Amino acid sequence: ATPTALMVGIGRGATLGILIKGHDALEASGGITTVVLDKTGTLTSGRMSVAEVSGFTASDDDVVALAAAVERGSEHAIARAVEAAAEERALVLRPATEFQTLPGLGAAARVDGARVVVGNPKLLGEQDVEITPAAQAAIDRADAEGNTIVLVAREGELVGLLALTDAIKSDAARAVAALHEQGLETVLLTGDSQQAGERIARELGIGSVHAGVLPQGKADVVKELQAQGKRVAMVGDGINDAIALATADLGLGVVTGTDVALKAADIILVRDDLMVIADAIGLSRKTLRTIK
Ligand code: ADP
Ligand code: MG
Repeated sequence: ATPTALMVGIGRGATLGILIKGHDALEASGGITTVVLDKTGTLTSGRMSVAEVSGFTASDDDVVALAAAVERGSEHAIARAVEAAAEERALVLRPATEFQTLPGLGAAARVDGARVVVGNPKLLGEQDVEITPAAQAAIDRADAEGNTIVLVAREGELVGLLALTDAIKSDAARAVAALHEQGLETVLLTGDSQQAGERIARELGIGSVHAGVLPQGKADVVKELQAQGKRVAMVGDGINDAIALATADLGLGVVTGTDVALKAADIILVRDDLMVIADAIGLSRKTLRTIK
């Protein structure tokens, strides 16, 4: 009877847009206490757009063109937004070589012989790029608005800044509330800045925030919660979420996500609305009760 109940649960999941990979996944989800949610692409649309450009030692157009030349080598949502901004401004992009992607940090390439690095303040700090007081003031302003900041450096010199916005999915607040109604604790996990993370957490009523976290760090946050005796479900979409998805007691992959994330997940949320998270956990609880 046990396998039958599980089969029914898996079948019921399929009709709800919840693709359960096996019996283990369904059983694991029954005891979940905590749901860790990735920000970009999971709670937000992931379709970012450039809201502000600020050139420090180059024109705004040059900053966008340089960044876009580098971002052609990246699959990140930020890269698509930067390319779209260059297209809107009808900029001609220089060819670039030696593309590098730095997960959770940014991207780099060689443009016209110069090494160009595009990424967050942490990355540029690591590369010893000097941030002038004027640049710092611009960064703080964009940060205070909760925007995602992308800095552009050429040959170690900071040339400008892009500030990007990303819309929160319309059903995100309702989905978080549904998790709380099920007695689940919620945690926001993001590679983006503390400010950007806190803004979203506040808007959605999410309990706590771990920001500025690299992909390996995401898994460490999951492990820490597990060490506190919690049973953790992780919801994510990106390559940067894959290790955390595999580490969690239950990994839920958003179907719009990357292949790597979907491979690491135990359950794939095929339905493109966030209420599916609460439905998935509710379904497993119900299925397990049937078995007992
Ligand atoms: P999240 O956890 O919110 O999905 P990521 O781990 O994908 O975010 O990225 C974390 C941060 O790394 C981004 O907010 C951005 O600052 C930086 N970053 C990552 N990839 C790029 C890129 N291609 N260009 C610029 N910045 C990037
Ligand atoms: Mg993401």
